[in-house]
Amino acid sequence: TATSDVTDLTDLDADIRRDPAAHRVLTGDRPTGPLHLGHYFGSLRNRVHLQRLGVEMFLVIPDYQVITDRDIADHLAEHTENLVVDYLATGIDADRATIFTHSSVPALNQLLLPFLSLVSVAELHRNPTVKDEIAHSSQATVNGLMLTYPVHQAADILFCKADLVPVGKDQLPHLEVARTVARRFNERYPHPDGTTVFPRPRALLSSAPLLLGTDGGKMSKSRNNSVPLAADEDTTARLIKGAKTDTDRRISYDPAARPEVSNLLLLTALCQDRAPEEVAEEIGDGGAAALKRTATEAVNEHLRPIRARRAELAADRGHIRQVLRAGAERANATADATLTEVRAVMGSL
Ligand code: ATP
Ligand code: MG
Repeated sequence: TATSDVTDLTDLDADIRRDPAAHRVLTGDRPTGPLHLGHYFGSLRNRVHLQRLGVEMFLVIPDYQVITDRDIADHLAEHTENLVVDYLATGIDADRATIFTHSSVPALNQLLLPFLSLVSVAELHRNPTVKDEIAHSSQATVNGLMLTYPVHQAADILFCKADLVPVGKDQLPHLEVARTVARRFNERYPHPDGTTVFPRPRALLSSAPLLLGTDGGKMSKSRNNSVPLAADEDTTARLIKGAKTDTDRRISYDPAARPEVSNLLLLTALCQDRAPEEVAEEIGDGGAAALKRTATEAVNEHLRPIRARRAELAADRGHIRQVLRAGAERANATADATLTEVRAVMGSL
């Protein structure tokens, strides 16, 4: 329902249409590599939809977060600019969205000090997504940032007072941290008139909150299992051909028993705006090879116009950098205003 902590667009649509100005969206993606189908169906499409409804949008590119699970942020400028290209190619309007990097908004990061004081070490250790990321990390030791980055994300969300966060399923524990931080901050430091500083942000899940990669795990930029939005059609075919499936020739949609086959069916269905069961029915006894051919065609066809726009946008780097500069300016103004308010309620720090 519209008041729960996790919602989807079917629940929210009417509410937003009535008063788009009552909402604000924050999301983002780490600049660790090219965006993939998981981002597109898991979050990007919802962002574009919300923006078209007239909701104000902040898109953070958390560059500092890259060093949670690696020593060096490789190709940072390139990855950052490519993210902006992906956003614009999928339909984000840069004139209305505030697109900025973490490092360009210092005031945002100052929120971390009060926020870190509001969570316990045990709570940080319990986070299931952090546990999963530690398990997949190539690092020999777990650094402190790995444990605290969900609190950074709380700062990303709360500095602009966002109430809606379109994300994939892996982000739900982090949204819980953001809500906890907001609630505890509001309780500890109310305005003298009893009003509170921060909203209670909600996760907005898409119909594909956890798209699987070609190895059967969560599709991720840094796990070498993704189909990038920017890939050409032959590469897309090769990647999908190499995806893990099973040996049952009869194709059926059963996410619990056949996650990989069901994932390809869902992917096809999302591209063609129909039900995965219907796609399964059509393929029948064709086996994994037919399923992969169908999925490849569906993905390539759906992405064709986006990829064409992407190629045009990628050719004008000056424009992409200008989008980031304008975004940083707007985000700084918002962060300064929030920090001033935070200092005031904390006792004029
Ligand atoms: P990395 O491997 O560097 O962590 P990632 O692929 O996990 O990259 P993020 O930048 O961590 O991507 O996530 C950005 C957003 O995309 C988050 O909201 C996340 O929930 C969503 N997302 C990422 N992967 C998927 C997926 N496979 N299915 C659905 N949503 C996803
Ligand atoms: Mg991730």
